[in-house]
Amino acid sequence: MPAEAKRPRVIIVGAGFGGITAARALAGHGLDILLIDRTNHHLFQPLLYQTATAALAPSDIASPIRVILRRDRETTVIMGDVTGVDAARRVVAVKDTGEFGYDYLILATGADYSWFGHDEWARYATSLKTLDDAGTIRRRLLSAFEWAESLNEPKEIARLLTFIVVGGGPTGVELSGSIAELARSTLARDFRRIRPGAARIVLCEAGPRLLAAFPPRLSDYTARALASLGVEVRLGAAVEHIDARGVSVAGQRIESANVFWCAGTEARPAAAWIGVDAAHNGAVKVRPDCSVPGHDEIFALGDVASLADRDGKLLPGLAAVAVQHGRYVAKVILCRVAGRPPPPPFRYRNLGTLAVIGRSRAVADFGRLQLRGFPAWLLWSLVHLFLLAGYRNRMVVYLNWSWAWFTYGRGARLITGASHGAEPTTAA
Ligand SMILES: Cc1cc2nc3c(=O)[nH]c(=O)nc-3n(C[C@H](O)[C@H](O)[C@H](O)COP(=O)(O)OP(=O)(O)OC[C@H]3O[C@@H](n4cnc5c(N)ncnc54)[C@H](O)[C@@H]3O)c2cc1C
Repeated sequence: MPAEAKRPRVIIVGAGFGGITAARALAGHGLDILLIDRTNHHLFQPLLYQTATAALAPSDIASPIRVILRRDRETTVIMGDVTGVDAARRVVAVKDTGEFGYDYLILATGADYSWFGHDEWARYATSLKTLDDAGTIRRRLLSAFEWAESLNEPKEIARLLTFIVVGGGPTGVELSGSIAELARSTLARDFRRIRPGAARIVLCEAGPRLLAAFPPRLSDYTARALASLGVEVRLGAAVEHIDARGVSVAGQRIESANVFWCAGTEARPAAAWIGVDAAHNGAVKVRPDCSVPGHDEIFALGDVASLADRDGKLLPGLAAVAVQHGRYVAKVILCRVAGRPPPPPFRYRNLGTLAVIGRSRAVADFGRLQLRGFPAWLLWSLVHLFLLAGYRNRMVVYLNWSWAWFTYGRGARLITGASHGAEPTTAA
């Protein structure tokens, strides 16, 4: 009997939108698939702001990777931090674990926030990328109100109840709108000494308008909708300095105990691992089939890849791009393994973009068709419910949203963790 041929090994680094999609598309085709992620869960980042503002619990927006891939018997999941790739030896190094060899490698490690050369600001401001970040923001937000209730000093109360959100993209808009609703509706009747509704929420955007990737009409609507929620929108307002007691923005000092960073992204260091050209944001410059120049067997996708569309515009850092990349790269690898001709170059199908502002308010851009207000919000809700991984999460989120819509209540208001984070006299 002839010895069984060795199955080609595909390593996927990162179980985000791109990595999970690629893993699912590759399964069932006789490959040996190894998926490595530094966490044990796939995170639905578009709803992170709801966990950060006490609307949803962490387990509502994330699922264990093993559970998602349980039925894919050829796929092994490893929790580990990839620290490098030796492209000559075709091995991936995992911290405290060892090396794993591959025939094909898919880099799907995503992006982080960029602090624009001021990494020291990360000590004072919290970004929103992981479940831990969302937990920190929630703790800081809720603690600020608790501390304020216990104080007598008006200046310190005002500092605690001033929330600065930096960056007027979708995440900054969602977060500031949600903080405003938390303060003005959810918490409004629960305190006796302070008025939560008097909290000051300032959204700072360096550019001339919010949601720069959307048509100007929708940006204007978003600014008006946020203003009606009581968010101070500051355009052309670049943050110049952040310290333990507040920020300097466009030449003005604002005292604040809570600064949330939602500006700029930077790809994770995959390009440096394989020693190839990186774009200005650190992403790997890939060929039209998402492979890495000089390394036909290595692919990069999603936020860690830099690829222009047919009109020469770089593809945006969106979940939809990562998902379509993931499906496409799986197809390329399956064609190679089967000796079939490759598929045509990657083409992004833009199905439209959505951003939510608050209860019953959102914007949607489908090119010629643009929606705003309640219809856009309803669409946003349905799309996000549909895209969430797992029936349990969909059901729980649907119930939470329905409850919140009718009652303004939020179910995840417990403060847990070692530090409350927004102490009245924050040490420098
Ligand atoms: C707060 C927020 C809101 C967003 N809202 C939207 C939205 O509404 N709509 C939309 O389309 N997009 C949204 N995005 C962007 C979208 O989430 C990203 O474009 C998408 O997640 C990119 O997918 P990816 O697979 O490239 O990377 P990710 O989904 O970020 O996944 C990367 C994975 O790699 C893992 N990883 C990273 N480094 C290593 C390492 N060294 N070793 C092992 N594992 C590693 C990470 O743990 C992670 O699981 C949002 C992003 C954020 C942060």
